Amino acid sequence: LDPEEFRRQGHMIIDFLADYYHDVEKYPVQSQVEPGYLRKCLPKSTPHNPEPIETILQDVQEHIVPGLTHWQSPNFFAYFQCTTATKLETIVVDWLGQMLELPKSFLFSGNGGGVLQGTACEAVLCTIVAARDQMLSQIGRENLIKLVVYASDQTHCAIQKAAQIAGIHPMNFRAIKTSKSTSYALSPDSLRAQICEDVDAGLVPLFLCATVGTTPTAAIDPLESLCAVAKDYGMWVHVDAAYAGSAYICPEFRHFIDGVEGANSFSLNAHKWFLTSLDCCCLWVKDPSALIKSLSTNPEFLRNKASDSKQVVDYKDWQITLTRRFRSLKLWFVLRSYGVANLRSFMRNHVKMANHFEGLVAMDKRFEIVVPTNFAMVCFRILPSALSERVYKNGKLDIVSEEHANEANRKLLESINISGCVFMTHAVVEGVYVIRFAVGATLVEERHVITAWKVVQEHANVMLSTYKP
Ligand code: PLP
Repeated sequence: LDPEEFRRQGHMIIDFLADYYHDVEKYPVQSQVEPGYLRKCLPKSTPHNPEPIETILQDVQEHIVPGLTHWQSPNFFAYFQCTTATKLETIVVDWLGQMLELPKSFLFSGNGGGVLQGTACEAVLCTIVAARDQMLSQIGRENLIKLVVYASDQTHCAIQKAAQIAGIHPMNFRAIKTSKSTSYALSPDSLRAQICEDVDAGLVPLFLCATVGTTPTAAIDPLESLCAVAKDYGMWVHVDAAYAGSAYICPEFRHFIDGVEGANSFSLNAHKWFLTSLDCCCLWVKDPSALIKSLSTNPEFLRNKASDSKQVVDYKDWQITLTRRFRSLKLWFVLRSYGVANLRSFMRNHVKMANHFEGLVAMDKRFEIVVPTNFAMVCFRILPSALSERVYKNGKLDIVSEEHANEANRKLLESINISGCVFMTHAVVEGVYVIRFAVGATLVEERHVITAWKVVQEHANVMLSTYKP
């Protein structure tokens, strides 16, 4: 959206909302539609091409509004005041699941389904809790202390936090070591070796989190073979696609999640790289009943005909919180106003820009690309050899240690960021400090990437000219 179009659409939305509040008294306060009515009104999948805001707003008025219970109505005297939620969510998560070519078993149109939660941390917590209770119902609740959660040492700390909250003993969280030889992906052999050791020690393998696009380097854990190992031990597999999940709507990236049919759950943060504002984490599960068994409550004050009939999805039983935001509306707007075609080209454009940046880094022999670039993230650093060229000992060039190289790269990043021209972050992989250049901002263009590289070079020039270890 260019700023003028954004302004125009913003004004339309304000008019829409003003009209809504003007008329809200006229609507039946509680929705009068039959369960499932919305699925009949809307298309079966995300439109391929973008749709104009006018059409989308017209559908909101004609199809979404009748399905709402009007919590903002002055005639609302039910629960304590709050905002609205709706059934649109079941449709939107199916649309997105189809775009990702998730197996049908993850969709409502199969026997699974999806839910929009706030963050990946919440989503993983819900799945660990479901897996935990499923396992404990077989082996007895007194065995909680024996349950083990597995992930790689590149996995986001959200998983460890979720395991802790779920009551997994802190000593039973395994962050399995990865290395450059597998581009920091989790090796199925290492996983099996660790599981065997744990089983021999009398522990019970419970849960594996495989990440397809890790936070430090966008590494991709091999789903098919990891799921095969997990299956041998009856473990729950969760796929964390928080960052890179968005890219899997492009056919050329989809193969990275081949084997997902062996997993139990899959999550993607639409608020990361999918043009949706915070917060919006999509979680799909194959067996919603496992979630529901762990998370459901049925207090009398919430009982209603629709929920009792089991014809509607009662999302309070799929997540931690009871009250929920209307996240599906913003995601629905994104899907319709961009369409599959434009969403794909948005990702591809970012990947292209990251590749361009990678090419610029590769041409400067003072730098190295530390891990192969996946998606739109480049991990690079100044080489120790570039620093050595500046350091003389007894009249000869000296070797600069990795430790000194790390310190130099840390200082380089600090000076780049202090300049305020660009902002990048870092990661440490196998003791090596790397600078992460993640292309993902909605408004980024090729010229920003080129300028960013110039800024890196300028700061590197200054640092090298005065370098002392
Ligand atoms: N998983 C991965 C791969 C991530 O990159 C992140 C955040 O950067 C998370 C999980 C955590 O996401 P959230 O902040 O939504 O809990």
